[in-house]
Amino acid sequence: MKKILVMEDESNIRSFVVINLRRSGYEPIEAATGTEALEKVKANPDICLALLDVMLPDIDGFEVCRRIRASGSKMGIIMLTAKSQEIDKVTGLMTGADDYVTKPFSPAELTARVDALVRRLGTDEEDSGNNELVSGPFVLNPRNRTLEKDGQRLKLTQIEYLLMKLFMENPGKAMSREDILAAVWGGDFSGELKTVDVNIRRLRIKIESDPTEPEYITTVWGYGYKWGY
Ligand code: CA
Repeated sequence: MKKILVMEDESNIRSFVVINLRRSGYEPIEAATGTEALEKVKANPDICLALLDVMLPDIDGFEVCRRIRASGSKMGIIMLTAKSQEIDKVTGLMTGADDYVTKPFSPAELTARVDALVRRLGTDEEDSGNNELVSGPFVLNPRNRTLEKDGQRLKLTQIEYLLMKLFMENPGKAMSREDILAAVWGGDFSGELKTVDVNIRRLRIKIESDPTEPEYITTVWGYGYKWGY
């Protein structure tokens, strides 16, 4: 069973999430504080995905996410954010996370997001051949799931990696936000199109020399994006 870390200080929300994950065939690992979550991550290197609440009594969820990534972990990370947190502010802080779910969420919504990310992490590992993709200064290696620009390794989240793979496999092709959402998050993921914009904005910061004048991921106005190189 795949292990999923559930970091949430409110015990009723935590139990609700844990029950639903168990029902979906996952093995939840609970943490009530940031410190406890980091200890559990250390003790369970096989955790495949983490659900991180943002507001906690000790360390905030973004900091926990940053520390998990700093440890080199490639687990999937979904932030649990409050509705009052403006999504643009959240994304600014969300470096390293793959997705977010806004509270209050339904069990179906949460499991759909978890399933989609777990599936993407899994299938990509299975069917990724050994073929490097090269485009301009970029080299994407599906085997190690790494991206280099001018020989320098760039740190990407799983979602950012999948976006890069999609772009580099489709050079010059205009892709709608719906297409991108379906390809990266899975066809049955009824996410918001804004999720695509948010992740591309973060990816541009990592790969573009000037994210305000993108050279590689260009905007196709009123439609979507294109790998412009
Ligand atoms: Ca909380």
